[in-house]
Amino acid sequence: MKDEVLFSLSYGMYAIGVKDEQKISACIVNTVFQVTNNPNRIAVSMSHDNYSYDCIMKTGMFTVSVLSEDTSGAVIGALGFSSGRNTDKLANVRHKVLAEGLPVITENCCCWLLCKVTDRLETPTHTVFIAEVTAGSDKSVGTPMTYDYYHKVIKGKAPKNAPTYQAKQPVGDGDSTESWICTVCGYVYNDPDVPFEDLPDDWVCPICGMPKSAFKRQ
Ligand code: FE
Repeated sequence: MKDEVLFSLSYGMYAIGVKDEQKISACIVNTVFQVTNNPNRIAVSMSHDNYSYDCIMKTGMFTVSVLSEDTSGAVIGALGFSSGRNTDKLANVRHKVLAEGLPVITENCCCWLLCKVTDRLETPTHTVFIAEVTAGSDKSVGTPMTYDYYHKVIKGKAPKNAPTYQAKQPVGDGDSTESWICTVCGYVYNDPDVPFEDLPDDWVCPICGMPKSAFKRQ
């Protein structure tokens, strides 16, 4: 079997909110699914390298914010491409802190869930947390973003606050356009109207915030 076959499995895009003794943080995961109802339990798979993993192991609690298709690459970049150990990942992301001290995203988020860990399934690299949903939104708003949508649409286009944003951008039409790829997050820049070389020196990757020097010609 080729590993690429596994790309056909479907996922979503979620922000996991956590707290430590001193601070709050969040990260992006693509694996959240409902395991049981009555009571409602969900499962989340998380890497042991993740700061959020350490926080969940300490507190036994986390939140799930279901990101909508309107979520900007900048939000995903802020939460997904740096570590909460050293940075305040939520500094530029609209959020609120629940009474339990855990953050949920309020920016283009469909709904949120507050979860209490009941079981863990260990693997050498990841832990699957099974958790009871103890509170959450009364309703869900907008269209949840799938992982496929993130790859095909978000990565192929600049977000609305990026200097290169256009309402209608071709996605990956490689005919006469050079593509440049971010070596950190994989974002592909291929705007036919603004060559990569013409972007201002202080332009940064709209997904992960890395400078132009992090890009290489594809
Ligand atoms: Fe990037």
